Amino acid sequence: MCATAHRLHKHGTSLPASAGLLQTMNEQGRKRIAWHYLAADEAAARLEASFNDGLAESEVLSRRAIHGENRITPKPGKGPLQRFALQFVQPLILVLLAAGVVTAALGEWVDSGVILGVTLINALIGFIQEGRAESALATLAQSVPSEVTVLRGGCKQRLASTALVPGDVVLLAAGDKVPADLRLFRAKDLQAIESALTGESAAVAKHGETLPEDTLLADRGNMAYAGTVMISGQGAGVVVDTGDRTETGRISRLIAEAPDLTTPLTCRMAAFSNWLLIAIGVLAALTFAVGLWRGESAFAMFMAAVALAVGAIPEGLPAAMTITLAIGVSRMARRRAIIRKLPAVETLGSTTVICSDKTGTLTENQMTVREIHTGGKRTVVSGSGYSPNGKVGEGETIAGALRECLLAGALCNDAGLNRVNRHWEVVGDPTEGALLVVARKAGLDERTLQRLFPRLDEIPFDSARQYMATLHEIEGQRMAYYKGAFEQLLPRSQSMLDANGQSVPVRRVEIEVAARAMAAQGLRVLAIARLAADPALTLEAMGADSGLQFVGLVGMIDPPRPKAIAAVRTCHAAGITVKMITGDHAVTALSIARQIGIARAGETALNGRELAALDDEGLRGVVRSVNVFARVEPEQKLRLVRALQANGEVVAMTGDGVNDAPALKQAHIGIAMGLGGTEVAKDAADMVLTDDDFASIEAAIEEGRGVFDNLVKFITWTLPTNFGEGLVIVAAIVAGATLPITPLQILWINMTTAVFLGLMLAFEPIEHNVMRRPPRPPGAPILDTGLVWRIVLVSVLLLAGSFGLFLRELAQGESLAEARTVAVNVFVVVEAMYLFNCRSLTRTALGIGLFSNPAVWYGVLTMAVLQALLTYVPLMNRLFATAPIGLHQWLEILAVGVLAYVVVGIDKQWRARH
Ligand code: ATP
Repeated sequence: MCATAHRLHKHGTSLPASAGLLQTMNEQGRKRIAWHYLAADEAAARLEASFNDGLAESEVLSRRAIHGENRITPKPGKGPLQRFALQFVQPLILVLLAAGVVTAALGEWVDSGVILGVTLINALIGFIQEGRAESALATLAQSVPSEVTVLRGGCKQRLASTALVPGDVVLLAAGDKVPADLRLFRAKDLQAIESALTGESAAVAKHGETLPEDTLLADRGNMAYAGTVMISGQGAGVVVDTGDRTETGRISRLIAEAPDLTTPLTCRMAAFSNWLLIAIGVLAALTFAVGLWRGESAFAMFMAAVALAVGAIPEGLPAAMTITLAIGVSRMARRRAIIRKLPAVETLGSTTVICSDKTGTLTENQMTVREIHTGGKRTVVSGSGYSPNGKVGEGETIAGALRECLLAGALCNDAGLNRVNRHWEVVGDPTEGALLVVARKAGLDERTLQRLFPRLDEIPFDSARQYMATLHEIEGQRMAYYKGAFEQLLPRSQSMLDANGQSVPVRRVEIEVAARAMAAQGLRVLAIARLAADPALTLEAMGADSGLQFVGLVGMIDPPRPKAIAAVRTCHAAGITVKMITGDHAVTALSIARQIGIARAGETALNGRELAALDDEGLRGVVRSVNVFARVEPEQKLRLVRALQANGEVVAMTGDGVNDAPALKQAHIGIAMGLGGTEVAKDAADMVLTDDDFASIEAAIEEGRGVFDNLVKFITWTLPTNFGEGLVIVAAIVAGATLPITPLQILWINMTTAVFLGLMLAFEPIEHNVMRRPPRPPGAPILDTGLVWRIVLVSVLLLAGSFGLFLRELAQGESLAEARTVAVNVFVVVEAMYLFNCRSLTRTALGIGLFSNPAVWYGVLTMAVLQALLTYVPLMNRLFATAPIGLHQWLEILAVGVLAYVVVGIDKQWRARH
């Protein structure tokens, strides 16, 4: 059970319960309360809130019923009609619309009707697919919940920020995004960036003092507004407004921005399509002119030009790429990597270096204190996990330096330890949680200690400073406790406590040897020190530069994540280097790095101080060979990313703190931790791991490579159709023959096969060897020469097959409609067979498992039905100028399909060998 302290009701202005609160809140709608003008406890009294305990759960429920969830109602984005209309603003659709209008003007009503109908269907399909891709991405964006630390019923809890109600007491720390409008009542070095609200990008200091009524919003230092970000310090505030009633909610409701679906690759493809459009436009005009010159009718030549344009433009390409990327994004989400920026999906596949934090990403972040070194004596701690069952030492009394060490660890601590369903949970930093657990094992309950010796002042933990301090009054004397990296505290210590608790001169060498021995076992080492304080001074004024009294060392295990070991091995096989960049001590870091396989025996680590001494050139040289960087300050991560990038690497970098944000932004792929990361880091990242596990980065890279493969497969599959159709038309004109396929038939082929054949490649599972190849060079062309030749080969096969059979049918005296039906079916059958070739660009369909992508089979079966309808249903015959064909024609068509399949198969084999 959590401790409950007295409730804050000293004003006697006991306000009505929930109903009254509602009334107060309703009044706010007309006249808002100037919370900054009220004293903090007055504000709390108005909200019936207690600074010490927060709200009771029952009270939360009734307030939620009144105020609803703490979320801002999104402004509607583009309406469906507008989005549908935008589908028509595409070059190909405009060509089609023009063609429809011209054919109508020429009185060709059927053709015109079909062209316009197809345009409509095309827009509809685009609309649905884009909508699906967008909503998939939008749901993902919301699946990284924003969490806050709240005090409820006297307990610290981590909750989704949507669960807040007015009156909740929220604890703020550096890196938090403010979840609702808060009246601050405590602030220690608290600084916020409020640009989201005020446009001002400089940090503003926050405090708990009362301000004049007319203070402008931007100057209200005692308020923290929803959507702003805390960049340093600690503080606490009471929620005054939630959801739409917050300043952000009122001033500008968040616009439900559609996620950006463009990536460098889709841009490149769109540019390619546009370039092709111009080339084809010129070719179509030439065709038209040549035809006229040869005496063909203007209408026939117009239709040929339209056929050329419709056939040769790869209109489905950008949409298919977006969908393939979106499918990749949802696959990654299933493997616990949430993509926040779509281009990351592509870049992941090219990643050459992953820079990972140690604690929590490569290790479990489940700290358990194993040993304590105090007064020259080593004490072993038993028990595992966060359960306080276990012993400190072998039954000896806990006294002297050992007791002081445990006491300091519990007091200089912001974590909470709760028992939930017979299970012990730490709220806050696991390093601090472990200190609470070990204190309880020795019979010291942190809640009692914190009540007996309340905190008078604090210096919050900061990765750059590497220690934290708190001030307490103990038996009439002020005492400051420090805990942090031993390199920070030991040099500042002049004396130490011996085993009996007596002050003696500090024995540095002995302590250093003990610390290194712990670190060499992979233990995380924390030092504890204290300072008898002058009652008149604050912690900051006292400084911690010297004069500390060393109390002890605490060594805790943080085992490597089992999955990380395998993931590092896979990365190495995939040509990806893994580097550990940690704030921890070099010896601990190296020990863990060796266990995980990041460092080999004999390898050394570079620490932050050595790193600082290197110039950029020197650093570029060092980052080539060093894999473990220890005691690195967050700011140095940025230099490391830059040095790696200067060496031509594609860098993925993890981070969780506020100061990591610049490095996350600079890296090609910034990766934030979903569980342990700050909101600031998540905002800066391209990808968020929902389980903080290194293995999820490896999984995302694997998926990224798979997505890229599938894109290349789609392009390799789709281009021959366009080129083949273009070639058929040009060849027919050059040869002076009738068009083997009409524009409508080309439309039919492109529309149906892109949706039912090509798109199925997006569902292709990842190939088995995807993580055994080196990373794709980022600037490399999408198609290598081998694939370009394959595209040419299949285009020529399509030309020869369809034109050849078309001429043969005519020569055998079949009708034009039958000959054209054969030509159309050649295209579809060759594409279907070629689809199996494209499932892997190097291996045979049998080699990858004929049924490993069922979507392909469903697609092929659907196409078979559609072709049967096109060939045999009279209405379709009339609309598309087709005619029923016989068995022997089908056999010929199939023979062409099989031939194409075999030729491509031989090409694959030949290339695999050379
Ligand atoms: P990583 O960078 O891999 O996550 P880390 O947790 O060790 O590793 P930091 O959080 O930057 O990195 O911590 C740096 C050092 O500061 C730690 O090695 C430890 O000695 C000390 N430290 C960590 N957490 C605390 C804390 N809550 N209070 C005091 N000191 C701490």
